Amino acid sequence: MEYIKEALNHIKEKDVNEKEFIQAVEEVLNSVDVIFAQNPQYQNKGIIERLVEPERIIQFRVPWEDDQGKIHVNRGFRVQFNGVLGPYKGGLRFNPTVNLSIMKFLGFEQVFKNALTGMPIGGGKGGSDFDPKGRSDNEIKRFCNSFMTELYRHIGPDIDVPAGDMGVGSKEIGYLYGHYRRLRGTSERGVLTGKGLGYGGSLVRKEATGYGVIYFLNEILKRINKSLSKQRIVISGSGNVAIYTAEKAKEYDGHVIAMSDSKGYIIDEQLDLDVVKLIKEVKREGLSLYPQISGHGEYYVGSLYDHLGLKYDIAIPCATQNEIDIKRAKNIYDSSCKIVVEGANMPNDNDAIMYYQEKGIIFVPGKASNAGGVATSALEMSQNSMRYNWTFTEVDEKLRTIMQDIHQQCLMAIEAYKLNEYDYVKAANIAGVSLVINAMISQGDY
Ligand code: NDP
Repeated sequence: MEYIKEALNHIKEKDVNEKEFIQAVEEVLNSVDVIFAQNPQYQNKGIIERLVEPERIIQFRVPWEDDQGKIHVNRGFRVQFNGVLGPYKGGLRFNPTVNLSIMKFLGFEQVFKNALTGMPIGGGKGGSDFDPKGRSDNEIKRFCNSFMTELYRHIGPDIDVPAGDMGVGSKEIGYLYGHYRRLRGTSERGVLTGKGLGYGGSLVRKEATGYGVIYFLNEILKRINKSLSKQRIVISGSGNVAIYTAEKAKEYDGHVIAMSDSKGYIIDEQLDLDVVKLIKEVKREGLSLYPQISGHGEYYVGSLYDHLGLKYDIAIPCATQNEIDIKRAKNIYDSSCKIVVEGANMPNDNDAIMYYQEKGIIFVPGKASNAGGVATSALEMSQNSMRYNWTFTEVDEKLRTIMQDIHQQCLMAIEAYKLNEYDYVKAANIAGVSLVINAMISQGDY
């Protein structure tokens, strides 16, 4: 459609160096053409132009001192993408690959994901190219303090509420919150989510993204009259999302046979998740230690999706963006995989997604399947406002209901727009984008 083509060309020209951002915009816009075909008046209202332009981008210098007294300077970012549904909400990523393109792609995706949760939250994302790996606690604390010294001016419980993402766990959130509190002189617990349980955190937040992925997957399996029991599952990553995806899958008797990290992967028919947790959460080391500690399984260097000859039913990529290109998608198909559900944000490139669709593999994009993390962050905000804590079971039940509801919204879009019955890409994009456009129009020309 001409309006979408023009808008895409415009972004490709203007943001020529922002590869990941262009990729994310292309994926969303190409799957919502039907909305614009049915509503030609949107062109005059500049709807696409407004959807793809962040409301605000804050970029700042983050100087910090290492343990030897040397000063380092990193880049800090916060992209406040769209606040039409509520305060900007989205994680902070500390990873050397962070740049403006990655911040914008994550912020853009976050807008529609947050809309799908049904919670009153807008979309944003932030972070830094700081690498916490190999840094002492004191260095991480000094970095977080310096990062917050600038960020605090731009956030607040009703303005922008960051959370964790890659490289930002409860330790970093603790340092960030402590420094915010000192700078502001108030106890605004709702300014950050993913906090420790002793000072305003929510039960289930740590587990939420991974548990939510499995709750969503269960809904798909119900549609095809199957269950998770005995399904062979490979999960890339061994961070927060991967570990709790594996934990919930095992609870439903799923058979998790492989996991990975940035250096390599393990394959083990008796995969011991406690050993993975010990290595990654406690020791903060590489999975190469796994066979020695567990006494079984094999460790290989490289990407899990380059491994040939392994048979499995379900792949859940939970590491990082663009882990899977067309070559790896073909390997996944050759492994007899029938379902790919994204735990990470955009781990499959657009060619890989098209290939799955061609081959009849059911594919779910992260903005639908990994929304449980941000949804539970919004539940943490609710509890902070009420000054009251729900029990584990209460939060978990709300999370499950939200994931079932997101799945239901996808089914409604599939029916209303007569989509292919398993086209979760178009369905999630249409449902999320419609909610944002409707709110934008109701609120005037902003
Ligand atoms: P973590 O930092 O906890 O874990 C990331 C995992 O991915 C680690 O095992 C890491 O290996 C591995 N990894 C990192 N880079 C690469 C790479 N280039 N190739 C292969 N593996 C890699 O992050 P999270 O689990 O929090 O996040 C994972 C993904 O899920 C991200 O895309 C994130 O945006 C998304 N997400 C996270 C949410 C959350 O609540 N945490 C919510 C929704 C989405 P190593 O241990 O060696 O570094």
